[in-house]
Amino acid sequence: MNIIKTDVLIIGAGGAGLRAAIAIAELDPSIQVALISKVYPMRSHTVAAEGGAAGVAREDDSFENHFNDTVTGGDWMSDQDAVEFFVHEAPKELTQMEHWGCPWSRKPDGHIAVRPFGGMKVERTWYAADKTGFHMLHTLFQTSLKFPSIQRFDEYYSTDLIVVDGCCRGATAIEMRSGQMHTFSARAVIIATGGAGRIFPFTTNGAIKTGDGMAMAYRAGVALKDMEFIQYHPTGLPGTGILITEGSRGEGGLLVNKDGYRYLQDYDLGPPDPSPRNKAMELGPRDRLSQAFWHEQKKGRTIKTPHGDVVHLDLRHLGEKKINERLPMVRELATAYVGVDPVYEPIPVRPVIHYTMGGIDTDINAATSIDGLFAAGECACVSINGANRLGSNSLTEILVFGARAGQSAVQILAADSPQVDEAAIHEQANAAKARIADLFLASGGGETVSGLRREMNDTMESGAGIYRTDASLRESSAVIKDIRRRFADIELQDKSNVYNTDLIQVLELGAMIDVAQALIISALERKESRGSHQRLDFTERDDKSYLRHSLASFVKGGDPEISYRDVTITRSQPGERVYGGGEQK
Ligand SMILES: Cc1cc2nc3c(=O)[nH]c(=O)nc-3n(C[C@H](O)[C@H](O)[C@H](O)COP(=O)(O)OP(=O)(O)OC[C@H]3O[C@@H](n4cnc5c(N)ncnc54)[C@H](O)[C@@H]3O)c2cc1C
Repeated sequence: MNIIKTDVLIIGAGGAGLRAAIAIAELDPSIQVALISKVYPMRSHTVAAEGGAAGVAREDDSFENHFNDTVTGGDWMSDQDAVEFFVHEAPKELTQMEHWGCPWSRKPDGHIAVRPFGGMKVERTWYAADKTGFHMLHTLFQTSLKFPSIQRFDEYYSTDLIVVDGCCRGATAIEMRSGQMHTFSARAVIIATGGAGRIFPFTTNGAIKTGDGMAMAYRAGVALKDMEFIQYHPTGLPGTGILITEGSRGEGGLLVNKDGYRYLQDYDLGPPDPSPRNKAMELGPRDRLSQAFWHEQKKGRTIKTPHGDVVHLDLRHLGEKKINERLPMVRELATAYVGVDPVYEPIPVRPVIHYTMGGIDTDINAATSIDGLFAAGECACVSINGANRLGSNSLTEILVFGARAGQSAVQILAADSPQVDEAAIHEQANAAKARIADLFLASGGGETVSGLRREMNDTMESGAGIYRTDASLRESSAVIKDIRRRFADIELQDKSNVYNTDLIQVLELGAMIDVAQALIISALERKESRGSHQRLDFTERDDKSYLRHSLASFVKGGDPEISYRDVTITRSQPGERVYGGGEQK
């Protein structure tokens, strides 16, 4: 097998991976960095972010405000030392982006413009028009090109980590163009592979967000933390899950059920928010709006479509002029993807999975429990987002903790002996290769990727969706176990080597099954309701028993083992969660 030797291997070239690579190259240009990505870097999901990135910018704002909003929004599950570090680093990182050329939108006087975002009580979301993620990713990508020490391996799919004597020593990856398997031998590895929204049927997440890195770390022995917390956004398009921005409701859009009735008036949308932005029902918090949809569905007041039940987002009263001026993208998306022109017809919408709060367990230095292995970005849980992420914190998180992961990797190189056990690396790489070869040999099982993936998606939605119960989670757990058993019988339809997307999809499904199981069992064991985790059988938040992070550890052939770790509280004691309104992305 081809061996590529490097100092630091970074798996994932989205915002977090690129930021980590730049941090290493800036600190020490003699350190070789191999940056691998299953897609061309500019196709990473970061590119899809529209709304913005949070960081204190205004004189009437403070680190304390940003800290309090984040901790409150996370329903006190965030580690407060990590949040403290995050809010202080945020403006530095966003300013650094400016210096690298990120075209932040500005006020007429030349100052950086900031916009309101849900749960942020002061305007602190930096943006670049409505293409913030695109501009940030472009800036990072272009900057990374300046450093010869960063070597890119685009369209390489990483399959397994290599861990020797408790130290991470690299990973294996398939070069998708040729089908060849490579061994990356490294002295430190950073995982930056993004979220796992694709385990659910309806999601705003790109098709590549299949939790690969989470599963790799999990199988190698790192716990997945707080996996039960996954965020729904109330207005996605049926079928594709494409996001219809909260801005459409901000501009006056109304949510109505099948009778044309503004059903939100029947629901308690949480404690009152003093912000004038949150007076309207449609601008209630994301999780509560998604929950109201669930109740309407149970009452039979939603609209049936081939892509599941929907409600209507009605913008017609805004008129064509305002829609074109303020919501051109919404008009474009609705017309292109559901064939509805919002000037004349209401848009069908439904809650869709948006963000994975949980992930690879890391400490404040982005370090995992395996020496030499780090993780950052949406695949990691550091944790600043707690039980519910505030919109616009994650684009900043990928910068702050991407940089931190890079710095930590540099530190460990200095302390580490460059001698590595080559024989042990070979042995593990060969085992990974054999696993892939077996997939090519298997025949006659008859199970297909699309069939198993659909069953997994359906059971996640029905059993571990907006509301959960002991019975629904047990049912989903049984279905996932059955899917895992049948996964062994999966048959590759395509046996060729060149761009074998069939093979990649099988590997992605394997990762998703692991992540789905960790999510279900973590949710089953958390017998309370907090943030995005809502149980119909345990409706209250229970700080006495559950102000703790859940840690799911992989058990081959069985359910994960769940243990707990106390949340780090420095200065904000748990209180009542008061939401903000406005736009979240
Ligand atoms: C539609 C949408 C809008 C959003 N808007 C906002 C917003 O306005 N503000 C905000 O703060 N957040 C927003 N978010 C969330 C935010 O964009 C993401 O959390 C963040 O960009 C994730 O960045 P990342 O670097 O962790 O991962 P990604 O950008 O997802 O990158 C993951 C990388 O890992 C690589 N990879 C994955 N698996 C493998 C593998 N097996 N082998 C090799 N490479 C692999 C991929 O190729 C990719 O390069 C939005 C999310 C979505 C979906």
